This record gives sequence, structure tokens and C-alpha cells, in this order.
Amino acid sequence: MLKSVHDFVSTERKLLIGGEWVPALSGETFTTYDPATGARITDVARGGAADVDRAVAAARTAFEEGPWPRLTPSQRQRLIWRIGDALLDRAEEFAQLEALDNGKSVAVAQGVDVAWAADLFHYYAGWATKIEGRTVPVSVPWVPGGQFHAYTLREPVGVCGQIIPWNFPLLMAAFKIPAALAAGNTVVLKPAEQTPLTALLLGEVINEILPPGVVNIVTGFGDAGAAISAHEGVDKVAFTGSTEVGKKIVAAAGGNLKKVSLELGGKSPQIVYADADLDLAVPGTANAWLFNHGQCCVAGTRLYVEDSIFAEFTRRVADFASQVKIGPGLDPATQLGPLVSQEQLDRVTGFIRQGLADGARALTGGNQVGDQGYYVEPTVLVDVKPDMSVVREEIFGPVVVAAPFSADRGAIPEANDSPYGLAAGVWTQDVSKAHRIARELEAGTVWVNCYNAFDTALPFGGYKQSGWGRELGAAALEQYTQTKAVNIQL
Ligand code: ADP
Repeated sequence: MLKSVHDFVSTERKLLIGGEWVPALSGETFTTYDPATGARITDVARGGAADVDRAVAAARTAFEEGPWPRLTPSQRQRLIWRIGDALLDRAEEFAQLEALDNGKSVAVAQGVDVAWAADLFHYYAGWATKIEGRTVPVSVPWVPGGQFHAYTLREPVGVCGQIIPWNFPLLMAAFKIPAALAAGNTVVLKPAEQTPLTALLLGEVINEILPPGVVNIVTGFGDAGAAISAHEGVDKVAFTGSTEVGKKIVAAAGGNLKKVSLELGGKSPQIVYADADLDLAVPGTANAWLFNHGQCCVAGTRLYVEDSIFAEFTRRVADFASQVKIGPGLDPATQLGPLVSQEQLDRVTGFIRQGLADGARALTGGNQVGDQGYYVEPTVLVDVKPDMSVVREEIFGPVVVAAPFSADRGAIPEANDSPYGLAAGVWTQDVSKAHRIARELEAGTVWVNCYNAFDTALPFGGYKQSGWGRELGAAALEQYTQTKAVNIQL
């Protein structure tokens, strides 16, 4: 482990409020654990409602009194860009800390989480100078002969609360912070209680680059998140997490009708046609639910395979999954690390047990691995029925359910039979079919002959109960700006 990572976890971590590192007003702390061993890593300040008040006040001051929204777009662009550079300069440190706190492979943490987080800061840095209004030709019929010059301004929303989950701790902060900053907003971030550390390291980086109060970080539990979503001084809340908590946030946000964007759960289907390139589709469909140990909102966990190839295809997927190397995140050879917590281990193994009791059959997997750390075998379940909980509910572990479909009926009815609509995968070499099926799927993202093929420039978000609004790309700026129409009689 790098000395800097060791040093970082050797001290109790605090809240970042108004540019200062402060303990919680209550003095309370909580412990964050290494999921590979269950051992304590360090203690972190447990922020509560009073700390959220302080953080919101600091963000309000930075927003109202500046300098943040009053910097030129070009100045904001340069500062946000520097955060991206700092992430790349310290990529190894961020990756090790992420692997330690979350359990994901250090190689994935560096190659995906940290690299993409840096890209997000660089991408939105560029947007700071490109958020434009429009001039609009207007008529105003009830002012005969009147001449007008009308245009729109895109202004920041204000103080933005951002509440993030534990599956991609740094990356989820990077999905949210730079888009808010580019538009001139200030931020109160609440990391997940399971994985607070990389957001706090990001806070150190940000604190060296941005003026005080522009980004504040309150670590803590759901009560701190609830305080943010209910706060009268917060103008917008962005949340990534479970659909259940998303609904609570909507209810809490009603008090001052703050703007809400939500990126929630999923149970994403993948449809494999007999004409697919199977050598591509076997590892492709498997990685879609194995990536990040299945702890992905987009995980492709319902596999619908054309009946003529069902037996062979699922056997090959099970073979692939059973050969994945399981181990601690800090081992560079690890492909599948531990789940994040004992709670998640219990939840995932509980779903598997229930599925087997309901009549599903495991082609591979089905068990916990060892008795230290929170490891679960990659699990492929067949003989499933549409009403089983393993088919309907988001498991958030390395578990896929597979069912055959016939060419004449197709798989669309089953694929769309879900309250969720986050993502979907289609595997076929027939181009027309790919486009047709992409239109029929009820999902915010459709990947064809690939999966998890995200890009910073592509909008991401959910249909149905998978969310409100879009992150990434230019679409995210819609969430972080409001449009003012100005009409001038000449
Ligand atoms: P997961 O199921 O992935 O653990 P959750 O939706 O429970 O996700 O949590 C995601 C984030 O929401 C975490 O930061 C958590 O602390 C926070 N959170 C939990 N409960 C609430 C709540 N009632 N209001 C706001 N945030 C909450």
C-alpha cells in the first residue's frame, strides 16, 4: 500500500465545510470497514442535520457572495480541469483507497473509476465556457407594431445536494460534482456510509483548487441524506441509489419543491438471438452482470436467450463465470472482489436461497466463498419463472437469471416486464433487428453487441422507476441550470 494511503487512513477523517475540515457537531464518528477482511479501516465523522445546516450555509455563502458563480466561465473551466489533472496525477492513490474501502479490484479502480472520474472533470470543465442561451424570434401579437429582442439565459440553480451510493464511490461523486460546478452551482455532497474515503480524498484535492464552500462534504448515514433532501436552503437534490430511498427523497423534497434528479435501481435485460456472434456474446453477457461483482445499477441480470441456443449458451456463460478469479481488491489479479458489506452478503445469498427454494436451478455458483470477507460465487440460475423474486428484484450481486424465448414471440414482453427501465443489451448480427429491438425496449440506454459501453458524452438515466432526468453529456447541464427568458421592447 502507498504510504500516502496508509497515512490517509491512519487519522480520523472529518467533514469538509466552508474549506475547513471539522468534526461533526455531535462529536460522533462511525467506522468504515475493509470488505475483503471485515477489519476496521478508519473512523469518519458522522455528520447529522446540524452539520448539513452548516454545509448548506457555507455553500449558500459561496454561491451568493462568490466568488464561484462570478468567476468568468474561463476561470471556472481552468479550475475544474485542474481537479481532473490532480485525479490522474494521484490515480494510484485513489485506486488503492477505493479498492480498500469498496473491495473492487485495484486495477479496475484505476482503469475505470479513477480514469473516468478524471475524464468527467475534464469534460465538464470544457462545458463551463459553452453553456449558451438562445435568441428567440418573438411576435407578441397583443402589442401591435412592437419590436422585441428576446433571448434566454441559462443560470445556475444554486445550492445542490448530491447523495451518492457505495458501488462507485469516487465515480458517482464525479458524475455529479463537475456538471454542477460547470454551471456555476455550489455543492453539498453526502457519500455513502459504507465507502466515504475516496470522496474525502477528492475533498482534499478540491480544497487545494477551489474557493472555500464551493464543494462541501458531509459524511454520514441516511439521516444526513434525509436532512439534505428536506433542507429549505437546498435548491436541487441529485440522488443515485435505491428506488426505495429515491421515493423518500421525492417526498422530502416537496417542502420547498427543490428540483430532483434520480438515478435508481435496475433489473436490466439482455436479449441474445441465435444469430449473435456467440464468441463475443458469451463473455459480453457474462461481464454485464459480473462487472463490479454485480453491484451496478445497470447490471444485465436477466438473460433471455433464443431457445435454439439456450442450453449451449447458458452452459458457456456458466463456464466463463465459474473461471473468474475471486480475491481481495488490492490483489491486481482479482477479477471478482468481495461484496461491500455483511449486509449485502446476507441480502445476495438470501435472494439466491429464495430462488433455489422457488424452483430455480444453479448452473454454477449459489454459495458464499469461504468465511472471511464478503465473497459470493458467480451464480447462473435457470428454470426461472417470471414471478420469482430473483427475476423481479434487483439483487446487486453476481447473479444472473436466464430464460429461453421463441423466435416467433420474441423476448420483448419479458424484457419490458419490469418496474425498472435503466439499461438493456441486445446481441445479434442482424442490423435491422438490432435497431428495431432498440426502439421497442423500455430502457434509458440500449447497448448492442456490447455492454457497459458508457461514454461521458452520452446521456444516462432511467425509464419508469429507474429515475428522473439524465446525467452525463450535455443532458446533465439541464439538471444544473435554469432558463430565464428576457424580452426587451426596442
Ligand atoms: P444502496 O441500496 O445502494 O445502499 P441506498 O439508496 O440505501 O443505496 O443509499 C444510497 C445513499 O442514500 C447513501 O448515501 C445513503 O446514506 C443515502 N440515504 C439512505 N437513506 C436515505 C434517506 N432516507 N434520505 C436521503 N438519503 C438517504
